Amino acid sequence: MDVKKLKTAYREVAQMAECKEIFWTNPKSGEEKKLPFNMEDICDAEARLRRFAPYIAKAFPETAASGGIIESELVEIPNMKKELEKMCGEFGGRLYLKCDSNLPVSGSIKARGGIYEVLKFAEKVATDAGMLSREDDYSVLTEPRFRELFGRYSVAVGSTGNLGLSIGIISAKLGFKVTVHMSADARQWKKDLLRSKGVTVVEYPDDYQKAVAEGRKEAASDPYCHFVDDEASQDLFMGYSVAARRIGAQLEKLGIIVDEQHPLFVYIPCGVGGAPGGVAFGMKEVYGENVHIFFAEPTHAPCMTLSMITGLKNEIAVSDIGLDGKTEADGLAVGRASVLVSDVMETLLDGCYTIEDKRLYPFLTRLADSENIFIEPSSCASFPGPSLTAAAAGWLKEKDLADKMKNASHILWATGGSMVPEEEMKDYYNRGK
Ligand SMILES: *Cc1c(COP(=O)(O)O)cnc(C)c1O
Repeated sequence: MDVKKLKTAYREVAQMAECKEIFWTNPKSGEEKKLPFNMEDICDAEARLRRFAPYIAKAFPETAASGGIIESELVEIPNMKKELEKMCGEFGGRLYLKCDSNLPVSGSIKARGGIYEVLKFAEKVATDAGMLSREDDYSVLTEPRFRELFGRYSVAVGSTGNLGLSIGIISAKLGFKVTVHMSADARQWKKDLLRSKGVTVVEYPDDYQKAVAEGRKEAASDPYCHFVDDEASQDLFMGYSVAARRIGAQLEKLGIIVDEQHPLFVYIPCGVGGAPGGVAFGMKEVYGENVHIFFAEPTHAPCMTLSMITGLKNEIAVSDIGLDGKTEADGLAVGRASVLVSDVMETLLDGCYTIEDKRLYPFLTRLADSENIFIEPSSCASFPGPSLTAAAAGWLKEKDLADKMKNASHILWATGGSMVPEEEMKDYYNRGK
């Protein structure tokens, strides 16, 4: 790879190589492209989650109130809007937070895709065994005969933390044997929590991608093992995309209009790409050109930004431009983007931006002080987004958005936080003070 050439061809790549923050808009956004999935796939995933709802409600009583549907609130955060404008620059319209940080069961956006993939596997195993049909009340899955069946199978995943939590918790609950391959830099409390639920946690001194490779290798030699592949899984992707089918009612309740005169902006932190990619795909399927999606990444691990700018998909890693891939933002320390997601996002994503680690904490603290909402540092990576798009005069003009921004709704997608132990959260809070 000729890195020097890339740096000359793309000004942003040269800046990224120096760990500078960048903002990039995608020139291919809106172009025609044949995608590997469509709305039918999202509806299929949504229907599967509905079938499982009676089981989820029974197995995780905290979801009983929502009938076993794992969903989060969308809330307006007007006080934080004022803070954000002071910190990053003014922007028109209104500001909202999608609180996936509070998703039940595993406290992060991974409760969408991760849980979905394991449920789909369980449905297949139980159906193939002749013990379950689609018309059944799936709460029967809590019966011992199913735990016995699932106990013959195992689930494995490589994870920096939150994905491991969601896969570990749901797999153990169903009765699968489950192994989470983790990088050594994963938080201790996440490892402890998983072990307390009977999950086998294997730690690797090397990076996350190595952990994934180990997990994949181990699973490949075992026909009774399902490997959740964070770098390429379509099931994860579809599980995340269902969010877009459910947000309509929430937008309506808040009086948010999405049409040509009222653009919707979504800003979402990105690691390997599955979670933000699935959400982005779903939102584009539902809201088309009236929704604009931006991904946020740490300056030290901007794998998707690099992939999108260069068009090199997963053939380029952050180490190729001299970056170490290290960040304090849990879930975002990823050196190479998902090939599936970078391909699907080629014409869907509106843009990317990067943020320095040290800027995450002040956002966390201001959100806590102004709205009494606590999220984890990685969730704060998206926060400069509304000010960045508002300042992108050329792009706004090109997209005919300039005079519509006063009508805009901006959603910051909070991806994790509610399971962070109080002591740890206090620490984060104090760092941002
Ligand atoms: C996993 C995660 C992300 C990013 O999701 P990817 O699928 O890795 O892109 C963002 N924020 C948090 C808190 C996460 O756990």
